[in-house]
Amino acid sequence: MSKNQVQHQKGYSLFEFMEDYGSEEQCRQAVFAWRFPNGYVCRECGHKGFCVLKTRNLLQCNRCKHQHSLISGTVFSSTKLPLKTWFMAIHLLSQSKTGLSAMELKRQLGVNYDTAWKIKHKLLQAMRESDDKQPIEGIIQLDDVYWGGERRGGKRGRGAAGKTPFVAAVALNKDGHPVKMKMSVVKGFRSQCIKKWANQHIKAGSLVISDGLPCFSAINKTSSEQLGFIVGGKLELLDHPAFKWVNVMIGNVKNSLRGSCHAVKANHLPRHLAEHCFRFNNRFDLRTILPKLAKAAVQTSAMPYRLLKLDDVYG
Ligand SMILES: [Zn+2]
Repeated sequence: MSKNQVQHQKGYSLFEFMEDYGSEEQCRQAVFAWRFPNGYVCRECGHKGFCVLKTRNLLQCNRCKHQHSLISGTVFSSTKLPLKTWFMAIHLLSQSKTGLSAMELKRQLGVNYDTAWKIKHKLLQAMRESDDKQPIEGIIQLDDVYWGGERRGGKRGRGAAGKTPFVAAVALNKDGHPVKMKMSVVKGFRSQCIKKWANQHIKAGSLVISDGLPCFSAINKTSSEQLGFIVGGKLELLDHPAFKWVNVMIGNVKNSLRGSCHAVKANHLPRHLAEHCFRFNNRFDLRTILPKLAKAAVQTSAMPYRLLKLDDVYG
């Protein structure tokens, strides 16, 4: 699909959303179907018969009487909000072209700012975990980036105090167009970090083009084949066509982060990067992005606030 086709594809309107997920019962049925794709199975005894205790909103196994809520163990766990509020947040976050700030989400959902912030970050975590399960492949442009300081400001890694390092990778199709991207915060540009990252995010047999930063040679030791593309350390050489797309994507994401959020803290950066990657990687089909994100939310374990605040990076 060309860039133009992406922009002009049929979206998923608010009317359609309200028809599909406008009531609490519709949302509950959707969560049930994603949670139990082959029908209910008791997690204690494996029995398939169950009943719903409506007064307490619990599912109960007919054999061992084990009870649990429909949302326990999902990202919605312990919420006091109706599921339809969460689904509305999923719709707004997934259909927005450039993302939605917690402040905008607060206004659209009619909740307070703290609640909107938590909803947003829990859903970004679901985006992150969903994208983490899908490694990229093909011809991959790879680059090292810093958030919070000038890119390649003379010193790398150890000298980059106060800056957050992340890896940016863009996979191209045979026509040289970008199809998927990954951006992950790393503890530093050390071989061990990069190897661990590449093992999870790049499929074996991919051709990786990098600028020859020593740590990227670690990818040789994974199953990928790295073409050491040495451009030296001079900024002007990075305009080389081989780096066009990865530089464009890095620029877009940085501009968007600067524009949509007042200050993206380093410990929240992994989820903000994942949000951009998830949206980019699913941009070809706006009609399936909601079920994809909602299903990911059902499959993402509970993310209490104390965990949302923590740093969680490759290292
Ligand atoms: Zn049971």
